[in-house]
Amino acid sequence: MYGNFVLTIKSDFHRIFVSGKIYFLEKGIGAVKLGYMEKITIIGSGCAGLTAAIYTARAGLNPLVLTGMMPGGLLTTTGIVENFPGFPVGIDGFELVNRMQQQAERFGARIKMGVVESVNLAKTPFSIIVEGEEINSQSIIIASGASHKRLGLESEKLLEKKGVTYCATCDGALPIFRNQPLVVVGGGDSACEEALFLTRFGSVVYLVHRRDKLRASKIMAERVLSNSKIKPIWNSVVVDILDVTKDKVTGVKIKNVKTESISVVDCAGVFVAIGHVPNTSLFAGQIELNDAGYIVQKNGTMTSVPGVFAAGDCCDYRYRQAITAAGQGCSAAIDAERYLSEL
Ligand code: NAP
Repeated sequence: MYGNFVLTIKSDFHRIFVSGKIYFLEKGIGAVKLGYMEKITIIGSGCAGLTAAIYTARAGLNPLVLTGMMPGGLLTTTGIVENFPGFPVGIDGFELVNRMQQQAERFGARIKMGVVESVNLAKTPFSIIVEGEEINSQSIIIASGASHKRLGLESEKLLEKKGVTYCATCDGALPIFRNQPLVVVGGGDSACEEALFLTRFGSVVYLVHRRDKLRASKIMAERVLSNSKIKPIWNSVVVDILDVTKDKVTGVKIKNVKTESISVVDCAGVFVAIGHVPNTSLFAGQIELNDAGYIVQKNGTMTSVPGVFAAGDCCDYRYRQAITAAGQGCSAAIDAERYLSEL
C-alpha cells in the first residue's frame, strides 16, 4: 500500500523511519514510491506461527500474523491434546491454539484473517499478496503447516462432505454418522485418535490399515486395540468409496494387499487419516523444497532465501508434534530477530 505524498530523495538510503514505523523507497521509471513495510510477517497461525508471534511480539517487532485458510491450523481439529507439557489432564486443541493467540495479541501481535495468494521472495522488501492486498515485509516466517493427505480416488473427491471427511472432531457428531458403521483409514496416531473419538457416535468403527501393525504410538495403539467398538481390518486398502450414484457414502470397497481379494464394508462415513502434505506450493520455485515438498531448513530455521525463515509442519517431516512446532516457532522468531537487528 503506497502513500500519496511526494518525497525527494537526496541520499541512497532506501529505508526510512516515520513515527516509529519503517517505510521503504522504491525507484520506478521517473518516480519514487513510498511504501509501508512490516518488520516481520508470519504466514500461518498454528502452533508454530503463534509461538513465533509471541516471541517476536515480546521482542517489540509488532508482528503481523496471516491466518491462512484454517485459522489455528490442524491442531484446532484435534480433540484432547494429552502430550503438550503443562496440561496434566490434557487440553482441547482449539482451546490451546486460542490461548496462544491471546498470548500473542497481549504483546502486540496483529492477526489478519486471509489466505495468501502469492509471494515474491526475489527481492526485499518481500511482497505478500493477501486477498488482493499487497503487504511488504522485511522478513517472513513461514509457518503454513500441512493439510490432510487424500487417498486420491475419484469417488473420494465426489463424496467429500457427503460422508467422506478428514476430521472426526469436526464432523463425527453429524446425524448421518450416528449409530452407523463408520470406516477410518490409516494406522498412525491420527487414525487411532479419529477411531477412538468416533466410538462415541458410530455403531462400530472399522479401522482399515494397509499393514498388520499400527504406526501409532504405543499408548494410542493399545487404546484402539482394546476398544471393543473398533474392528481393525489389516493389510487392506480402500480402492473405491460407494456410492457415487446415490450421492452419499454407503460403503467402501477394500482390497486385501496380501490375497488381492476384494470385499465391501457397509458404512455411512469414511474418515481418511493417512497423514499430511506440507502447505508449500506457494513457495515452489522461490525457496528450496525437498522432494516431498517440505521447506529445507538451513542453520536452524533459515531457508534458502535470507530473511525468510520456516517453522513447524511445513518443514518438519520427522517429529510433527504440537510441541515441536511451537519450539520451531520460537527458534524462527529468535533467528528473525537476529537477522533484523543485523540489517
Ligand atoms: P502418520 O504417522 O504419517 O501415519 C499415516 C498412516 O497412514 C500410516 O499408518 C500409513 O501407513 C498410512 N498411509 C499413508 N498413506 C496411505 C495411503 N495412501 N493409503 C493408505 N494408508 C496410508 O500420520 P498421522 O497419523 O497423521 O500423524 C502425523 C504426526 O502427528 C505423527 O508424528 C503423530 O505422532 C502426530 N500425531 C500425534 C497425535 C497425538 O500424540 N495425540 C495425534 C495425531 C497425530 P504405514 O504405517 O504403512 O506407513
